[in-house]
Amino acid sequence: MTTRKRVDPNHARLDRVVADARRAREEREQGYRAQALKLYPWICGRCAREFDHTNVHELTVHHKNHNHDHNPPDGSNWELLCLYCHDNEHQRETEARAAGGGGEPERAGATHRPFAALQSLLKRDDG
Ligand SMILES: [Zn+2]
Ligand SMILES: [Zn+2]
Repeated sequence: MTTRKRVDPNHARLDRVVADARRAREEREQGYRAQALKLYPWICGRCAREFDHTNVHELTVHHKNHNHDHNPPDGSNWELLCLYCHDNEHQRETEARAAGGGGEPERAGATHRPFAALQSLLKRDDG
């Protein structure tokens, strides 16, 4: 197996675009994070754990509507959560999406085959 690497100029450019986008996002994150930390007491909104400057990096800014581009200056879309509660919050969201809506296609697939078999059976009877 050879692992020869070719320098692809398109790929290099894409890398830079991605890096730029990431830096812009990080700058924006720093912006709303600083704002949220100024606006709200440093307490987790779920477990009420308190933070100070020694561990504030474990306090995260959660977006209530899960839209990171929605950053009203009054902070109405932000919630300060510790890392664990923030994780939980997103896990719950993911599970709710998996269990809730979007389950229809699977059920339709399950009923598809018996129906097809029934149809071919009826056809045979007709013949
Ligand atoms: Zn917490
Ligand atoms: Zn979040």
